[in-house]
Amino acid sequence: MKNIVIMIGAPGSGKGTQAKLAAQRHQFLHISSGDLLRSLAIKKKLNASEKKAVNLMRQGKLVPDRIIFGLVFERIIFGLKNNNGVVLDGAVRNLEQAKGFRQFFEDNSFENQVLVLEIHISDEESFDRLTKRRVCVKCGEIIPWLPATKNFKVCAKCGGDLKARQDDGAMVIKERIKKQGNAAIKKILEYYKKIGKIEKINGEQDIGKVQQDIDRVLRNYVD
Ligand code: AMP
Repeated sequence: MKNIVIMIGAPGSGKGTQAKLAAQRHQFLHISSGDLLRSLAIKKKLNASEKKAVNLMRQGKLVPDRIIFGLVFERIIFGLKNNNGVVLDGAVRNLEQAKGFRQFFEDNSFENQVLVLEIHISDEESFDRLTKRRVCVKCGEIIPWLPATKNFKVCAKCGGDLKARQDDGAMVIKERIKKQGNAAIKKILEYYKKIGKIEKINGEQDIGKVQQDIDRVLRNYVD
């Protein structure tokens, strides 16, 4: 059984939404490195490396691998003990991270449990979605720019006000796509193709259809 699902996708691919849905359906722990970093950002006291991580995140740049490993490895161990498995959302964004996670999985004899899911969208679609999406100022929920959600005036979950995400300015978005878009993803996918199981999903369909495709794939590996 594969119960460590690594979701890979360009910014705005919907991997966050889909990772949450898949985690709920299978009682897996949803682990988003972006969420872990955003919760650091609202902490009162930060050490020097945490401050650096938060600043880099705000500029749309990748945070150093060792900080990501420090945050995510611990959650994986916790998730595998307390849930049926884990879904990693945005935690693997470059080749070095893919290798670092691989090493961690090998050290803990988890490597046969790993399934990689690519949610594919083009860089153009990524830019379009990111410039328009919003976040709830109260609970942090991300509101994607989709027919079903684009007219929301307040957060559907808690009624909080919505605003553009702090790390979502046009320049920052261009930088993120350059560093985290399809060029970067290609290298990661080539690495995973050589060592393990990888499945590709078309992320440019509507949310329900993407969800169905992910379900179909996961049913083969998880249930
Ligand atoms: P996300 O919410 O997943 O889009 O992440 C928001 C920001 O957090 C990214 O643009 C990066 O600056 C940072 N970040 C999240 N995950 C990682 C990661 N695995 N490696 C480096 N930086 C990350």
